[in-house]
Amino acid sequence: MLEVGTVAGWMQEWYPPATAEAWDRVGLISGSRTTPVTRVLLAVDPVEAVGEQARALGAQMVITHHPLYLRGTSFVSEDDAKGRLIAGLIRSNIALLNAHTNADVARGGVAQALADLVGIVETVPMVPVADDPTVGLGRIGRLPSPMRLGDFADVVASALPAGPNGILVGGDPDRLVTSVAVSGGSGDSFLALAGDLGADAYVTADLRHHPASEHLEEGGPALICGSHWATEWPWLPVLARQLVDRAAAEGEQLEVVVSQICTEPWFEHLATTGSTQDLVTMPNEGAPA
Ligand SMILES: [Zn+2]
Repeated sequence: MLEVGTVAGWMQEWYPPATAEAWDRVGLISGSRTTPVTRVLLAVDPVEAVGEQARALGAQMVITHHPLYLRGTSFVSEDDAKGRLIAGLIRSNIALLNAHTNADVARGGVAQALADLVGIVETVPMVPVADDPTVGLGRIGRLPSPMRLGDFADVVASALPAGPNGILVGGDPDRLVTSVAVSGGSGDSFLALAGDLGADAYVTADLRHHPASEHLEEGGPALICGSHWATEWPWLPVLARQLVDRAAAEGEQLEVVVSQICTEPWFEHLATTGSTQDLVTMPNEGAPA
């Protein structure tokens, strides 16, 4: 029977910890490498709802993208949510492992999964690592045939997993898009690079007002801003397939479940519809008291 340590070893092989950013924390967060494992739950975020799902499923291992403790931690008491999650997992003998920036850069990793999902072909990393040009942060490639930005945005919206955040689209909807850069999760830092690499559009998440606005003012690539969760989740089914295939190749039984719990902090998206009426030039018309 498989053990947690065997699955952790596969993860280490596919997503070497040495390829993670220096500030990152990746690997086995809690649990024993000798625990037998027949069922694994995959999720973007290590949150209590995911821990409860693992328990309900009878999973012996949870693999998340995000780390649980990224900075120095003095307390793991159940006074806070992270403490409750970790204590609950340990009590239930469920191991927790994560692959974060090492999964972002990998072949078949988070950035590649996002590029594949939205139909980008001939992709290469936006920031290749020195010793392997097929590994690195972000991906840039092209659409099989050029598309209006408005139409490409429809493709992205229908491909990303359903969530309340949706996508925001910046730029001329009639702009023709051929070259596309993608980076799952927070992509602010690659705005300029996407332009330098010749992208017509950049698909990412968590873009803030000033960087995005200034980027578009400068004529940079059109922007498609999804949610952090939705742009990273597409890696999970890819990882599930990898795990199941590897287990089968080794003659082992392993069931892998991809969590469909949307761990965005939001539960609803409403377009705002309040008035932007100019109260200076029309002082007598409907000015609020
Ligand atoms: Zn992330």
